[in-house]
Amino acid sequence: MTNGRYANIIVDISHEKIDKPFQYKIPEKLQGKLEEGMCVQIPFGMGNRLRQGYVVEITDKAEFPDEKQKSIAGIASGSMAVEGDLVRLAAWMKETYGSTMIAALKTVLPVKQAIKHKEKRKITRLLSVEETRSILGECMRKHQGAKARVLEELCQEPVLPYELVLGKLNVAPATLKSLQSQGVIAIESESYYRNPVKVESAREMGKTLSREQADICQKVLSDFDQEKRKTYLVHGITGSGKTEVYLALIEGMIERGKQCIMLIPEIALTYQTLLRFYKRFGDRVSVMNSTLSAGEKFDQCERAKKGEIDVIIGPRSALFVPFPNLGMIVIDEEHEPSYKSETMPRYHARETAEYLAELKKASLVLGSATPSLEAYNRAKQGKYELFTLNRRLTGGRLAPVSVIDLRQELREGNRSIFSRKLQELMEDRINRKEQTMLFLNRRGYAGFVSCRSCGFVMKCPHCDVSLSQHLGGRMVCHYCGYETTEPKKCPSCSSPYILGFKAGTQQIEQQLQIRFPGIRVLRMDADTTRTKDSYEKILTAFAEGEADVLVGTQMIVKGHDFPNVTLVGVLAADLSLNDSDYRAGERTFQLLTQAAGRAGRGVKPGEVVIQTYRPDHYSIIRAAAQDYEAFYEEEVLYRELGAYPPASHMLAVLITTPDEKRGEALADKLASLAREEADRNKQTPKEAQGRECRQTVVIGPAKASIGKINDIYRFVLYCKSAKYGQLTAIKDRIEQAVALLERKDENIQFDFDPIDRY
Ligand code: ADP
Ligand code: ZN
Ligand code: ZN
Repeated sequence: MTNGRYANIIVDISHEKIDKPFQYKIPEKLQGKLEEGMCVQIPFGMGNRLRQGYVVEITDKAEFPDEKQKSIAGIASGSMAVEGDLVRLAAWMKETYGSTMIAALKTVLPVKQAIKHKEKRKITRLLSVEETRSILGECMRKHQGAKARVLEELCQEPVLPYELVLGKLNVAPATLKSLQSQGVIAIESESYYRNPVKVESAREMGKTLSREQADICQKVLSDFDQEKRKTYLVHGITGSGKTEVYLALIEGMIERGKQCIMLIPEIALTYQTLLRFYKRFGDRVSVMNSTLSAGEKFDQCERAKKGEIDVIIGPRSALFVPFPNLGMIVIDEEHEPSYKSETMPRYHARETAEYLAELKKASLVLGSATPSLEAYNRAKQGKYELFTLNRRLTGGRLAPVSVIDLRQELREGNRSIFSRKLQELMEDRINRKEQTMLFLNRRGYAGFVSCRSCGFVMKCPHCDVSLSQHLGGRMVCHYCGYETTEPKKCPSCSSPYILGFKAGTQQIEQQLQIRFPGIRVLRMDADTTRTKDSYEKILTAFAEGEADVLVGTQMIVKGHDFPNVTLVGVLAADLSLNDSDYRAGERTFQLLTQAAGRAGRGVKPGEVVIQTYRPDHYSIIRAAAQDYEAFYEEEVLYRELGAYPPASHMLAVLITTPDEKRGEALADKLASLAREEADRNKQTPKEAQGRECRQTVVIGPAKASIGKINDIYRFVLYCKSAKYGQLTAIKDRIEQAVALLERKDENIQFDFDPIDRY
């Protein structure tokens, strides 16, 4: 409990002009009851209207004479204290990424209100394994897929968390009820499950670590015991045992009375992965994800604070779970773009974790098969300690990769989107009843429609993007949902030769039906995964052999094991190279490496076919050879030449407004402010050592590459500097200027080291 007579409070109003702490007196009745992070009611402004605010500091230092200070009216109902560390973290995020303090505070507060939650439940098998198996057989005969899935898992595990079965096995509550009334399972509340004997029986011991795995654990834990706090990067191909290392490290931390945060991209939070953690740590582990209700999130935080759980698993927001004794943060697949927030403050989980680890005196462990250039660069510079795992522990081999030149195919008369080699191998898989995954790495989902006579492209009237062609003659805008029908002739020149241009997943499905009549295809893209559980549904169906081929965008290459997949085809590997973005090469390399890693995960050997128009591009050559190191060397050289991260830092300032003219004027004004600030810090040529990237440069303003979304115009300004501090100086300068400006609907956003082009 913090003592003091005054509280500094951030008012819950999102406006730059009042985004600073205001001091209030703590009245008698609240003395000793307030804590940093608490939400309080305060009289604000001329009319003393009651507003909400967050306590960021409690102090004895008065900023005004006592008689001028207003008093806090009361604690907001349901308010819970957050740790001071989280308030400090919010202040750091505001400073580092640019946002209002209130937006930063709301980011680190996982829930704003205490909400009653439902009790946690478990599913327990009541019958013996043999009895369960016989019921399982019956369900299979009756094609009761969902029941069969639960029973199958219950044969392996006598007790399963209710949320895991519902969320990840794609089973409806009604199905479980029916099993319950049949007397096959019991659905029990947590308190019953907490019977330690039962937990122990479900627990699993760790594997005997390989020499390389043991070395990592030994080093990290002994550093910890010697109070050395560092960041470690584990570079290991998929299947090389990284997760097993995380489990062992977390176990080590629990033995030391410490808690751990385990970040996994939401899309990789699969049943199999979560089960590994449940089996190892029983009910000491909990999962945080976006499908949880506010009440469930609140429950998680309360349990964490009370020390009832040791491990939280979740996507980037799990960083803010308030553990009193945090010892370690693990970030798996640290290269994933989903670790960067898409709203202000646009924080990166890796950097934020580094700062949080420092605050909490915790260790940070990063892992990836294809580390981000940023992380690998820091490891090379000795800022992170690097470990490498380069063999698969289950004996599975990396699949051989063939690169097919699509230009050559065309020259030799093959006009299909499938190369002859891919067709041949697919034919073979169909005959052998093995499965194929076809992967289309483009971010637009379907083809755009253009005129073959005059080149006119059908565009969304509200957004500056081309419309995508869908089946049934529909054309859809993927940014705002605008829909229209395909024109019979070109609106510009009346030519009848207006048609869809590139293949989307739907078109691939059609082509497959034509080439392989009777083939069973599942498709996964933005269209088929609109609803919450459709993603899991498709994966489950594919895993159960309900299709020969799974066609999809990059969603299908993430962290799933399909033992029966023995062929992976990448249809046009260079599509992602066309993104006009400095990370295009890195993204392509990562996607191809991940896609290749999908083949041959089981006992059967696999093969990979990469089709491309640019077989000589280094991202494609290195991915085909699965040679990360060589890729890194070439890519980092390119980043240095262009002064892109990690060789330099970048700040994007995005200006959005419904009024094009005003937006343009504001963008110009901000650009000249940025230039002024950059000039103030200009180094002499000697200091700069003649390297351009050492100077701060300002590029633009310009219309963003998507100049309009939903009738809102977008302008962008880029600043580059080797020194991050110079970019935050520019941000501060712009923030100050903007606070004084009369604005209508103009909105300004900052993005440091952006991962997407604007
Ligand atoms: P990654 O996280 O790098 O993909 P995992 O930790 O998931 O790798 O390991 C891949 C497979 O190897 C898993 O099936 C795991 O159970 C197994 N495995 C990992 N470490 C060991 C070990 N020391 N001994 C035996 N099997 C192991
Ligand atoms: Zn035309
Ligand atoms: Zn649109």
